[in-house]
Amino acid sequence: MGSKSVVISRRKALASLAGASAALSAAAQGRSPGPRVVSRWDSVVVGAGVFGAWTAWNLQRQRQRVLLLDAWGPAHARASSGGESRLTRTIYGADRVYTRMAAQSLTDWRWLSGRAGLPVLHPTGILMFFSRNESFATDSLATHRDLGLPLMQWDRAELARRYPQMAWEGVEFGLYQADFGALMARRAVQTLVAEFVAAGGEYRQAAVAPPTGSGALGGVRDAGGNEYTAQRYVFACGPWLPKLLPELLGPRIFPTRQEVFFFATPPGDACFQPPHLPGWAEFTSGDIYYGMPDLENRGFKIANDTHGPAFDPDSGERRASREGEADVRRYLQRRFPALAAQPLTETRVCQYENSANGDFLIDRHPDFENVWLLGGGSGHGFKHGPAVGRYAAELASGLLAAPEPRFSLASKGTVQRREVH
Ligand SMILES: Cc1cc2nc3c(=O)[nH]c(=O)nc-3n(C[C@H](O)[C@H](O)[C@H](O)COP(=O)(O)OP(=O)(O)OC[C@H]3O[C@@H](n4cnc5c(N)ncnc54)[C@H](O)[C@@H]3O)c2cc1C
Repeated sequence: MGSKSVVISRRKALASLAGASAALSAAAQGRSPGPRVVSRWDSVVVGAGVFGAWTAWNLQRQRQRVLLLDAWGPAHARASSGGESRLTRTIYGADRVYTRMAAQSLTDWRWLSGRAGLPVLHPTGILMFFSRNESFATDSLATHRDLGLPLMQWDRAELARRYPQMAWEGVEFGLYQADFGALMARRAVQTLVAEFVAAGGEYRQAAVAPPTGSGALGGVRDAGGNEYTAQRYVFACGPWLPKLLPELLGPRIFPTRQEVFFFATPPGDACFQPPHLPGWAEFTSGDIYYGMPDLENRGFKIANDTHGPAFDPDSGERRASREGEADVRRYLQRRFPALAAQPLTETRVCQYENSANGDFLIDRHPDFENVWLLGGGSGHGFKHGPAVGRYAAELASGLLAAPEPRFSLASKGTVQRREVH
């Protein structure tokens, strides 16, 4: 397909997204008589975040007729996938499952990046650094060696030589991956949904009610009284899963409040932009500060990865706190002293939708043979979107017999004890 026709088909896809929303809102305003049953789909996916969008895409690649629904739109402002940027890395300690999934996903991110008008993937490189020889680091090196994946180790002198804009006191060494970097989160999901629609999938804006009954679910209903029927249903509702299915997932998914800060960089100085600075994370016994170089002139991003307080994705306060700002400024003073007093340019409050230990949830609903639950991204899910979507699509379609035990509902605890970083 030529580039002109790609642009046209993407425009058509975006126009059809808008048209579908308008039709639905007309229905919601009463212009459409009574509940309308539409049963043209093989699969309905509820939730157009990174997990739902890649699942819908993969179901469609199996030649299914797929409907993707979202209450507010793909990667909207309050969705966990709605932020500006997300790190991607394969550094996961001894954890081969997530190491492999992140590695497999990179190919798809590159493909998507080639489809979008602007980059989805900025291959800035990823640097994780440590103040002592933690098992997370030595295990990561062993895992990468075993799986044949590249991972470099640099001592403090090498780090200081490469990144003189950072202060390296107390750091022993760093692990570096050249091929990974930052994913532009909102752009990625919205591009993927447009690709899905351009390829024949349907997207509609609709707030879906919880499934009721048991056995084979016959359909899902939206707030406007429309019923959507299909052979199978995937609920990929991120931090809303505990509200949608309170008995089942209320005790098993823990949304927490997470603050993100962007700072202005010094004028005329490109040292905090790629390629001079990679995506980075400092790991100290599981505590992580992480951030991105100044991507697309948006500012230098920094966040503390420690789980914040419990958070309601609908009504939670989304103004960042003074304490949070003071905390990251203290960190900047230690590692990025030139930025410690720089003006704050932007803040965001998002939520992690944590499972008890950080493992994803990809499993059948215990009461319905044709309903699948997908979530528990737990602050590290975005990078795995393509692999999770492929896996969920194969599971829902019966191409895979049973979920990986770690993704099962049965393995989801009710007490938070973070293990996956
Ligand atoms: C601050 C922050 C930083 C992060 N950093 C990273 C990182 O560096 N690297 C990384 O890999 N991951 C990171 N993550 C994690 C990652 O972003 C999430 O795990 C991932 O985006 C979760 O996607 P999701 O599709 O499950 O949820 P969401 O993106 O929240 O999507 C769920 C969708 O379901 C829809 N929905 C809910 N209920 C209904 C309903 N009843 N009807 C219709 N639609 C409904 C919602 O509107 C929403 O759009 C970070 C997360 C945050 C918050």
